[in-house]
Amino acid sequence: MSSKVPPIILNNGVEMPQLGFGVWQVPDDEAETAVATALQAGYRSIDTAAVYGNEEGTGRAIAACGLPREELFVTTKLWNSDQGYDSTLRAFDASMEKLGLDYLDLYLIHWPRPAEGQYVDTYKAFEKLHADGRIRAIGVSNFLPEHLRRLMDETSVIPAVNQIELHPHLQQHASREFHAAQGIATEAWSPLGQGKGLLEVPAIVAIAQKHGRTPAQIVLRWHVQLGNIVIPKSVTPSRIKENIEVFDFELDTEDLAAISALNEDRRLGPDPAVFS
Ligand code: NAD
Repeated sequence: MSSKVPPIILNNGVEMPQLGFGVWQVPDDEAETAVATALQAGYRSIDTAAVYGNEEGTGRAIAACGLPREELFVTTKLWNSDQGYDSTLRAFDASMEKLGLDYLDLYLIHWPRPAEGQYVDTYKAFEKLHADGRIRAIGVSNFLPEHLRRLMDETSVIPAVNQIELHPHLQQHASREFHAAQGIATEAWSPLGQGKGLLEVPAIVAIAQKHGRTPAQIVLRWHVQLGNIVIPKSVTPSRIKENIEVFDFELDTEDLAAISALNEDRRLGPDPAVFS
């Protein structure tokens, strides 16, 4: 594991780097270069998904990087149309084939799709794959506390991680508190708010100037100090490097309070209660 990035200890003892590299919207033929750049910059955790269509490119970068497999932490996600027990087992094999891996570090149910009512069966297949030693940790994404409660009532392995949309404009207090109480790690997707307006917010720009850092580094550092796992995405080498350099400075209580005041409960992505 990179010495720069501290681990988060998941509820089953597995160590996951607190900062990783997200590859949503990176075309398959660019994923190999982007992931290779990230690995060279010191990232050891990669977040992909079946629906991103870049598991093969990601796998090529992993195969070529020369790092021992155990130093890497690879996450992929089961897509909505593959939910269900048998279809999950098949989808997992297909993802592993594309990634070229013989075990996975973290597998996530991408969305709960509560109206379809399949996430419990899907998760039971995750439990089997975990028991068989094919996945080191299993978890979910975009689950609301009510979905997690049902899952925990009807299955036996508490999810290690819930990956949710989380950034200064959507701070997710209720989910974060629920996860902390249950021992579930909170992983932030779109941690930079997709880079658009958020990185120009005057309060963030002012904190960046105060610390001689970039707005992206300030936002990522805010996540780190809250204890979130983060997976910023970029295909620009200088930004890939900049985004991992957040472990050598600290925000003070005033900075943290100024960023916490930016919450607007505003989603960029779909509402998990209805998205399917
Ligand atoms: P992000 O918040 O990481 O923002 C990425 C964008 O911000 C880049 O495309 C770029 O435009 C900009 N950016 C990145 N670094 C920058 C820098 N240093 N300075 C200025 N601008 C910068 O958004 P994301 O890609 O949506 O989220 C990160 C990862 O989260 C994804 O790649 C994916 O792995 C994961 N994700 C998961 C879900 C889910 O449903 N589970 C949904 C969306 C994303």
